Amino acid sequence: MLIVDNVYLTLGHKEVFRGLNLEFNEGNIYGLLGQNGAGKSTVGYLLMGIENYFPEKGQIIFDKQDITGLDIQGRARKGITLAWQEPARFEGITVHDFLTLGGRYSAKKAVDLLELVGLPAERYLKRELNDSLSGGERKRIEMASVMMIEPRVVILDEPDSGIDYGSYEKVLDVARYLRDKGSIVIMITHNVNIFDNLDYVYLICNGVAYREGEPDDVRYFYEHQCDRCEYLKTGGD
Ligand code: ADP
Ligand code: MG
Ligand code: MG
Repeated sequence: MLIVDNVYLTLGHKEVFRGLNLEFNEGNIYGLLGQNGAGKSTVGYLLMGIENYFPEKGQIIFDKQDITGLDIQGRARKGITLAWQEPARFEGITVHDFLTLGGRYSAKKAVDLLELVGLPAERYLKRELNDSLSGGERKRIEMASVMMIEPRVVILDEPDSGIDYGSYEKVLDVARYLRDKGSIVIMITHNVNIFDNLDYVYLICNGVAYREGEPDDVRYFYEHQCDRCEYLKTGGD
């Protein structure tokens, strides 16, 4: 279990979180919903232990251990991983080397997982992970790499942005694959159309988890009842 316990975080002059509480259990896909600027990506950086995103107050607990002070490498070793909003690009690195970490991981597994995201290995393994691949292709390869390392926690930051529908379907396949293997999957999104795929949703608004629960309930609240979101929609902040 992964817990964000009463976290306060200020970035520049912006008080992004003021008492954020979240709880994530193994074998579930969570949605983090919220308007632009609500702090969704910041939750990802906070969980990942990225520099400058350590809370002023509050704790992050994983497996009953306080990991608040642990840096990004320490958290990665515990099995926490983040896929950035913009899919990975590594000039000069082949897909094969990227997926096997230069031969440290099984090449057979790399082939199988590429096929799983709909990319025939014989056509992609020797390609370079650069702009010769589309955003959707790079996102699929990134998803294959996430499955390679079998993370315990995976945070996907707006995995639907800038990719084609077919690739996005593959992202959802990967989310379900990881959930079924017992991972915690956290999907950051403001796209309510994917809500059928989620088990539980947090609405981030006003520096806290303003509403949480069943996807349909949170979606309804977000679209029709959240006065604070309405206020933000009309240009306040
Ligand atoms: P979201 O992902 O929900 O769109 P972010 O997590 O990227 O939102 O940002 C949350 C808020 O924090 C935004 O208002 C953003 O402008 C602000 N913010 C992010 N990083 C910084 C920073 N380094 N300095 C000041 N404000 C920041
Ligand atoms: Mg944003
Ligand atoms: Mg964001």
